[in-house]
Amino acid sequence: MKKDMCGMFLPEITAAILPVGLEKYRARQIAEWLYQRGASEFSEMTNLAKKQREILAEHFLINSVRVLDRQHSQDTKTSKFLLELEDKHTIETVLMRQPYGNSVCVSTQVGCGMGCLFCASNLHGLMRNLTAGEILSEILFINNYLKNQEEKVNTIVIMGSGEPLANYEHVIKFIKLCHEEYSLNLSYRNITLSTCGLVPGIERLIQEKMPINLSISLHAPNNEIRSRLMPVNRTFAMEKVLAAGDYYGRETGRRVTYEYTLIKGINDSRENALELARKVAGQLASVNLIPVNPVPERGLMRPDLAVINNFEQILKSKHINVTVRREMGTDIQAACGQLRNKNLPG
Ligand code: SF4
Repeated sequence: MKKDMCGMFLPEITAAILPVGLEKYRARQIAEWLYQRGASEFSEMTNLAKKQREILAEHFLINSVRVLDRQHSQDTKTSKFLLELEDKHTIETVLMRQPYGNSVCVSTQVGCGMGCLFCASNLHGLMRNLTAGEILSEILFINNYLKNQEEKVNTIVIMGSGEPLANYEHVIKFIKLCHEEYSLNLSYRNITLSTCGLVPGIERLIQEKMPINLSISLHAPNNEIRSRLMPVNRTFAMEKVLAAGDYYGRETGRRVTYEYTLIKGINDSRENALELARKVAGQLASVNLIPVNPVPERGLMRPDLAVINNFEQILKSKHINVTVRREMGTDIQAACGQLRNKNLPG
């Protein structure tokens, strides 16, 4: 079986091409074609001899994604792409034009096995993990898409379908590849990983010594509510998740963001806000409030604006750093918790 070259580090490319007779210095040229110029065929690599391109095509392949559908929000700031992988599975990737640049939300799994109540990504469970190369292909696709406007991806949020820390090896490889100078050359600070709170994964991530931003889905002020919303809380209770977040902040010096989806009548009361404030007080952290996005199958409602504002004010009065997430792409179901593999029914 041919090996996918997209997703290889430079030393891996070198190790792959030497046995088929290409010189060592060719590895950097190949990496640049793959990651900086978005080549999807070896035949595009015109600074390699024709014979060398043929040898590469004989032994390797470049897995890339194919766009099946695209939707643009009315304000044109958000675009959602339905992408097909080589095995015909589909994933969604979202481009958000932020004031600070182009931000892309990538998927890391086909579907998700975590079962969060408010999320559409898990409606059909977990199908499979994406490889580092496949996750990177999402970014390379968007870079190609932006090429005509002479723009590229500036920041990455690992927040699409899937739990990234449940696909640890591939996701870490993807992040490191994005950082390499022969690849996207992105600063770690421009990358945010969002987890539902897999505590061993967070602890492992700290050991990687990569100063990426960490976002943890909390969504509740106590275990009782959290377990109702997020089955993972029965394995990793909230205290452990908060302790891991605190540890991450202290070890990396990076502010952790606790995501809190506000759902009418479930976690939006004054008592809930006060309890949340007590739990996160003293941490190098901020709370991001996300009024729940409609997922019709789950029948969850968004609180009234006054309730959202009140919740925010209570946290502020307790000196918690808090923001309310600006809505992007709700009209095309590209907002948080709305991504799914759309070719499936339901
Ligand atoms: S919120 Fe994240 S972890 Fe939870 S089901 Fe959705 S994709 Fe999975």
